[in-house]
Amino acid sequence: MMKQTFFDSHAHLDFEEFDHDREALFIKMKAEGIDRVLIPGVSPERWSRQLEIANQYQCFFGLGIHPWFIPPDLDKAIIHLEAQVNQHLSNPLFVAIGECGLDKLRSDFTVQVELCHQQLLLAKKYHLPVILHAVKCHAELIALLTKTKLPHGGVIHGFYGSVEIAKQYQLLGFKLGIGGLLLNPMAKKLHHVVSELPLDMFIIETDSPSMTPINSPEKRNSPLILPAIIEKMAFLRKKSTVLILEQVNKNTLQLYEL
Ligand SMILES: [Zn+2]
Repeated sequence: MMKQTFFDSHAHLDFEEFDHDREALFIKMKAEGIDRVLIPGVSPERWSRQLEIANQYQCFFGLGIHPWFIPPDLDKAIIHLEAQVNQHLSNPLFVAIGECGLDKLRSDFTVQVELCHQQLLLAKKYHLPVILHAVKCHAELIALLTKTKLPHGGVIHGFYGSVEIAKQYQLLGFKLGIGGLLLNPMAKKLHHVVSELPLDMFIIETDSPSMTPINSPEKRNSPLILPAIIEKMAFLRKKSTVLILEQVNKNTLQLYEL
């Protein structure tokens, strides 16, 4: 049987936190069987560096504007984004719009909604899945997705919500990105979601360098925690890690049409 490998569906390995040891990290990841990564886009200023790293290490990538990086001129930024999308449409590493989304803990919520909506429309126009950041805004995001009706769905990355909310995303054709939070013994709501929802809804991610698991000796998160996430999922589902990893990989490849 072919050895299963891990796919980190959300890691900001282009960020400067990795500048000093990126090469070594990729070597370590490869040794652990972590051989595929998706680097999401966060802001126009950072796209060129992101694409440079994605190309150098052959990582998949998304193009988008994160709600923490609201551009000074929204229309101009969306035009810039669409030009980038067009430029990379035939690049096999370019797989999604995002990350974009909504974050109630940050300011300018009305502008965030407009920025997110514009990116959902691009995802629809170019038949691409979308990578969504959703913090304390599930009702607003579900309303926006219901209105936009995306044919390819996408992922709610770093999902944190109830089983009921997860089911609403399921109806909208979305998957849930499960990350290091699952390793927190206190994250009962997320454990419940992973136990209850159909297995075809989950993909795995780390959101590196953020979202370091609570018990980790490392300060910086990295894709090296993926095997622990799969182990925890297997424990919660009472299934083998082989089966869980196989299903999660299948989900990821299906979502990004790889
Ligand atoms: Zn992210």
